[in-house]
Amino acid sequence: MNIPVQNCSSCAACVNACARNAITMQLDAEGFYRPVIDAEKCVKCGMCERVCPWNKPVENPNAADVSPKTVAAYAKNESVRLQSSSGGIFTVLAERILDDGGVVVGVAQLGKAHFGHIVVVNKAELSRLRGSKYVQADVGLVYQKIRSLLKAGRKVLFSGTPCQVAGLYAVLGNAATSADLFTVDVVCHGSPSVKVFEKYVAEIEKDKSALVNSTRFRDKRNGWRLFSMTSSLNTISGDCFQFSKTLREDKFMRVFLQNICLNTSCADCHYGKLPRIADITLGDYWNIAQVHPEMDDNKGTSVVLLNTAHSRGLFDSITDKVVQCESSVDAAIAGNPCIVRSSKQHPKRVEFFSNLDKYALDLLVKMYCPYPTIVKKLYYRLREVLGKIKRMGKMYISNLTIK
Ligand SMILES: Cc1cc2nc3c(=O)[nH]c(=O)nc-3n(C[C@H](O)[C@H](O)[C@H](O)COP(=O)(O)OP(=O)(O)OC[C@H]3O[C@@H](n4cnc5c(N)ncnc54)[C@H](O)[C@@H]3O)c2cc1C
Ligand code: SF4
Ligand code: SF4
Repeated sequence: MNIPVQNCSSCAACVNACARNAITMQLDAEGFYRPVIDAEKCVKCGMCERVCPWNKPVENPNAADVSPKTVAAYAKNESVRLQSSSGGIFTVLAERILDDGGVVVGVAQLGKAHFGHIVVVNKAELSRLRGSKYVQADVGLVYQKIRSLLKAGRKVLFSGTPCQVAGLYAVLGNAATSADLFTVDVVCHGSPSVKVFEKYVAEIEKDKSALVNSTRFRDKRNGWRLFSMTSSLNTISGDCFQFSKTLREDKFMRVFLQNICLNTSCADCHYGKLPRIADITLGDYWNIAQVHPEMDDNKGTSVVLLNTAHSRGLFDSITDKVVQCESSVDAAIAGNPCIVRSSKQHPKRVEFFSNLDKYALDLLVKMYCPYPTIVKKLYYRLREVLGKIKRMGKMYISNLTIK
């Protein structure tokens, strides 16, 4: 039995709202989490349909701004910044909440192709949430846990995709306005299929005759812009090694960034818009070199949208831990259109998934998302070098002006 919903976002609000525990999330044929109802347990109360944020869009309960306060920022702690996807602002916010006796909820790697929300209560565990995992997350029953934590008077920082933030609000109802709840959404390009990532991991294991135990999706070994996908592997004899490819050469990043393996909901996302659904929105400030060159050293700079009054107080309390400058939402959107719009679905998505079990990922990439030609690669390289020279020139001039 299915819940009647077009393009389910896999937010799991229905699972968390069902008083009979009659719904579980299971992977469908394409590798996306879908609610499956146990007809034996279901009493047909209709709660799952009523709570579904995809059937009835949810708004930010804290009166978010259409023109949010926008800053470009990064963590002063260099090690945190380098381990994070963008500027490491998520960790600084999370540490603040933990210092106040609260808990932090975000996405961790739970298995080689299993990613899901966990509740973190101390700083040692925070590293598990750090960094983007570009695979659809298993929400589990985390919204129920958050409801109990808020009832018990704990401060909670929840982070996830915008559709997961909407799912949380839908389950919490009036409790979503609690002064103890802070929400963070990521600027979201879309959620890739778990099955495609499983295939990617299995192919690496076969090629390298070793087992993958973890993946870093945003390894900054070549800088923030040219980030790498890095897998850590173990051989049968116990040796550990890493396998790493830049975003331009890695086959998983190729299919992800070409929008061919995303959930169908992502092409019609209800939450890629202003006002944003969460209190705070975090993303990459990709055009920082053009807008605020003094904030760019290719180690990662975040765009931070402070959407509600509630969130501005929290951000003010971490200003001694971050380097920041005031910016504008329009400038951020110019370099990051997913703040206000959905990714366009690849025209061959259906064909790609129907061939997923038949062919290796390398071949699927050749068939549907071929790598750029040498001429295009040279053009990209030239653009990069010119950008670097321009940035260095601007930095030199601004240093002269300061002196
Ligand atoms: C699926 C996905 C798509 C994204 N698309 C874009 C984009 O198009 N443009 C852009 O600017 N930024 C995008 N981001 C956000 C960006 O990659 C950074 O996560 C963000 O800038 C925060 O970086 P940070 O350095 O502050 O903290 P980090 O420590 O890097 O951020 C980690 C946070 O991301 C959350 N997270 C990690 N993986 C997932 C997941 N699978 N599902 C839900 N939440 C997750 C964690 O809970 C944690 O709060 C995307 C993130 C994800 C997960
Ligand atoms: S969108 Fe969320 S609430 Fe609606 S059916 Fe899908 S998982 Fe359930
Ligand atoms: S693009 Fe929208 S629907 Fe897709 S994961 Fe992101 S927030 Fe959810």
